[in-house]
Amino acid sequence: MSALPGRLTLITGPSGVGKGTLVKGLLERHPEIWLSISATTRAPRGGEVDGEHYFFLSRDAFERQVAGAGFLEWAEFAGNLYGTPRQPVEAQLAAGRPVLLEIELEGARQVRRSFAAGFQIFVEPPSFEELERRIRGRGSDSEDSIARRLARARIELAAAPEFDARLLNGNLEEAIAQLEKLMGLNG
Ligand code: ADP
Ligand code: 5GP
Repeated sequence: MSALPGRLTLITGPSGVGKGTLVKGLLERHPEIWLSISATTRAPRGGEVDGEHYFFLSRDAFERQVAGAGFLEWAEFAGNLYGTPRQPVEAQLAAGRPVLLEIELEGARQVRRSFAAGFQIFVEPPSFEELERRIRGRGSDSEDSIARRLARARIELAAAPEFDARLLNGNLEEAIAQLEKLMGLNG
């Protein structure tokens, strides 16, 4: 896989840290980057569109895709399954396009094993309290989901030293500029 001409960049970090917000800002400035659309068994949040934010699948359909080796990686997170469809990532890399994945820790570890040449960035919050404020401020998760995400966040934050780079998402504009620098893009 590492012989494919396109470069693979992966962004991870705890839920609510602002990964989606950072990626949106990055793609607005760099439309040449191809963002992988994941599959998930979670229910859509208000405003999320199937095929645009995620491919929303039933557990059965997701498991069939797992059995058919259709995912580059997949993991369970806060009670739902998430996975990166394999074929489009490989096709975009083969075409020489920069590819971006935004996924959680277990998936990042799987990708590290299959794409050793990829570059992995861990996004950190200014504090745990600010992380909780952001998850709650998003206003889209149930109390149960928030509790699971915060418990998982403690484990994920401890894994930051495994990554090629750590990115503090304090001031959003500064963080986007830093992300561009890490990816070797011109501001
Ligand atoms: P993730 O994709 O990591 O789960 P989101 O991108 O959904 O996180 O962001 C979670 C919440 O935090 C959103 O309401 C978003 O607007 C807010 N947010 C993101 N980045 C920042 C930032 N740098 N400063 C303040 N709030 C932020
Ligand atoms: P959310 O439910 O907030 O959209 O996503 C929950 C977590 O799942 C986030 O940390 C997000 O990065 C991660 N995630 C999204 N897509 C994938 C994927 O394809 N694979 C893995 N392993 N994690 C994903």
